[in-house]
Amino acid sequence: MNAVNNERDQNNERDQKPVLPSANPPAWLGVMGGGQLGRMFAQAAQSMGYQVAVLEPADDCPAAQVAQQLIHAGYTDAAGLDALAARCAAVTTEFENVPAASLERLAGSVFVAPGAAAVSVAQDRIAEKRFLADCAPRSGVLPAPHKVIASLADIDAIGDDLLPGILKTVRMGYDGKGQVRVASRADVRAAFEAMGQVTCLLEKMLPLAYEVSVLTVRGSDGASVVYPIAENVHRDGILFTTTVPGPNVAPECAARAQDAARAIVSELGYVGVLCIEFFVLTDGTLVVNEMAPRPHNSGHYTIDACVTSQFAQQVRAMARLPLGDVRQHSPAVMLNILGDAWFDGAAGDTAREPAWDRICALAGACLHLYGKDDPRRGRKMGHVTFVAPTLAQAQAQLHAACLILGIAP
Ligand code: ATP
Ligand code: MG
Repeated sequence: MNAVNNERDQNNERDQKPVLPSANPPAWLGVMGGGQLGRMFAQAAQSMGYQVAVLEPADDCPAAQVAQQLIHAGYTDAAGLDALAARCAAVTTEFENVPAASLERLAGSVFVAPGAAAVSVAQDRIAEKRFLADCAPRSGVLPAPHKVIASLADIDAIGDDLLPGILKTVRMGYDGKGQVRVASRADVRAAFEAMGQVTCLLEKMLPLAYEVSVLTVRGSDGASVVYPIAENVHRDGILFTTTVPGPNVAPECAARAQDAARAIVSELGYVGVLCIEFFVLTDGTLVVNEMAPRPHNSGHYTIDACVTSQFAQQVRAMARLPLGDVRQHSPAVMLNILGDAWFDGAAGDTAREPAWDRICALAGACLHLYGKDDPRRGRKMGHVTFVAPTLAQAQAQLHAACLILGIAP
């Protein structure tokens, strides 16, 4: 299924440094951030015999329910960072907006993957687009046409070719937050002002045929693996489903996206799990959208459908173990479960628990709930992956799950 295993690139500044020995279980592994990604990371690490420490400022978080140690501290808290570094053999991050300076401080005394430099590129849409454009001669793909909007004067200088477009904040955007669709210069001005005139990127609105993502993992020795390409459907800017193999994805397109991903991850000198999102346009052009320097929502299907999950790969990469087999053993469809599922039905605005017994009764259902006790509309509460002998069977179960959860299929 289009997975690529065990390539080794030479493009690595770390190749000049001696590769550290592996950190074997029961060593401690640390994670910056205690959300669902941190929780699933901890579960994978613990199943391999590691101990997990989580640094997280929030009082209650999904990862705290499973980690052996919670360091309750802010992401820039020096004492918290030093306690994490002292405890662990390696540290990773699940929260994309961890300050690069914090990762640098950790790296002074512990192995950190991914590193601050790579994470800071992905945190800043301007740096990210520049990097992806610079990579194009090697990756063969360009980002969407775009322009930096740092002042009202920049809006006057916009070319007509960028409209209609999407105005995106440069930092801290996720799940479609910090984005406004704009049709005219007046729209751009209004949106820019509404966002408090923070620096934005105006991106041309492209005619999407469908969206795909490529999950890659690269070890500190330059070895890399690429998972099968995933097809993603978004609703209201939030990932709705991931289907693998993607029903629209032609083999030639999958190969191009995987080659591009391999070139990008090597160019970054990246260590760990990196997910790269692409658009496929109606004329077949492949466009690179953005990178997530961590396990990704579109990679959750790997827990149940692949030999090695994306979380186990993050463990392997940071602990300098050999990377795992990315082979997919079953077609899979992943459905995100948002807080909305708690509110549909006769109960109106009173939250009630969805009928998990009915979801679990569906063939091939693998239910993952994140332990969040406060369901809100639009909040990611869990996901369910359906694995089946054929993709059509998995899709039929997804359809049934949508009906049970009150989600339009
Ligand atoms: P996330 O972090 O959840 O992936 P995000 O908030 O960082 O999302 P993007 O991935 O840039 O934002 O955009 C969210 C979605 O909006 C995309 O998956 C796509 O459906 C749509 N979108 C973004 N940019 C464009 C574009 N230039 N043309 C058409 N559609 C777009
Ligand atoms: Mg995105």
